[in-house]
Amino acid sequence: MLKKPKKIREVYADHAATTYIDSRVFLAMKPYLTEHFGNPSSLYGIGRIANGVLNDSRRKIAGLIHALPENIIFTGSGTESDNMAVFGIARVNEKHGKHIISTSIEHHAVLHPLEELRKQGWEITYISTNKQGVVKAEDVIRAVRPDTVLITIMYANNEVGSIQPVAEIGRKLLQLRKETSKPYPFFHTDACQAAGYLDLDVEKLHVDLMTINAGKIYGPKGIGMLYVRRAVALKPIIFGGGQERKMRSGTENVAGIVGLAKAFELVQQNRQKESERIRGLAKYFWELIQKEIPKVKLNGPEIGDGRLANNLNITIMDIEGEAMLLYLDEYGIMCSTGSACTSESLEPSYVLRAMGLPYEYAHGSLRFSFGRCNSKNDVDYIMEYLPGIIKTLREISPVNLSARIHARYK
Ligand SMILES: *Cc1c(COP(=O)(O)O)cnc(C)c1O
Repeated sequence: MLKKPKKIREVYADHAATTYIDSRVFLAMKPYLTEHFGNPSSLYGIGRIANGVLNDSRRKIAGLIHALPENIIFTGSGTESDNMAVFGIARVNEKHGKHIISTSIEHHAVLHPLEELRKQGWEITYISTNKQGVVKAEDVIRAVRPDTVLITIMYANNEVGSIQPVAEIGRKLLQLRKETSKPYPFFHTDACQAAGYLDLDVEKLHVDLMTINAGKIYGPKGIGMLYVRRAVALKPIIFGGGQERKMRSGTENVAGIVGLAKAFELVQQNRQKESERIRGLAKYFWELIQKEIPKVKLNGPEIGDGRLANNLNITIMDIEGEAMLLYLDEYGIMCSTGSACTSESLEPSYVLRAMGLPYEYAHGSLRFSFGRCNSKNDVDYIMEYLPGIIKTLREISPVNLSARIHARYK
């Protein structure tokens, strides 16, 4: 049986679910939660201070993505930004067509709004990915119809870290729109997972809309933004006091916005160095796993440029991911199976299924996502216990689990 360690460490390896707040980010936010608490719309001193820092934050973020400050709309989350992109485009452009192109591996914040539109009579084409979880740019372009008003494709996938050819799709769309002399289809990308590791220059990506949030890049939760290129016809989805140039009403989350700007600035400044360091960790981990654990498999692209540096998604055959999570938790190790949003259900990950993995593979998946706090010591600590946990679990479910899981879904 497994022995408990004398002293349990905590190893957080679930940075794709959310991150802690960087202390520099927290310090930048603090004055706007306390002494400078004013409403940016108020005309007296503390209101003007709040309004000033709002403008500074907008300018800072715009600079980092090569946009103009007026292209940035602050929202309440990545989910809200995705909803705004989908519904905001749909509402104002439906007279031009009711067709949208997306992928089968988007976050639910995109998939569920699309499903709502489908119920309202829209047609959605979901481009399938290859076995590594990557769509082909040509497949996306080939799916464009005269009535397509929006293409929404994530920059990097949250479960398997696969990076999509967003710049290539953007370039091809530009060409297509030139040929047809139409502004359609607009192109949105969900860059929540990419923001910490990839270049988000909207000119290089040729995107019209882009979603970012702070809770994945060492900023606070509950704050997001949507980049919207000027020529894009978009309607608000939240109405009220007319903040954010009438595009998103509600008193601005000033401290959150300051936090988003600071967090984004810090991750972008350091992204190349940190990517290299973290990719090294993932690689080191994967090599140890292959050496010490039989019957494992990497999900998603090979570790390298096609994969987010922080992501390691593996399948451990003949084991249920949930059982492993609970065991790992006993040792202070935090990671996930499926994604944070889907792990409450026992359904296997829809992303892995969409990539063509059979049920029994999708079931035993574990996602480790590393971050700033992780070092080789953490990987070594995980490897002290992971092989034993797997061995134990395989012993206590001697009947062929794959066959059982398979039968359950037949
Ligand atoms: C986390 C995440 C979201 C949702 O962001 P929230 O700020 O939690 O609403 C959307 N898309 C992707 C790819 C994400 O990883």
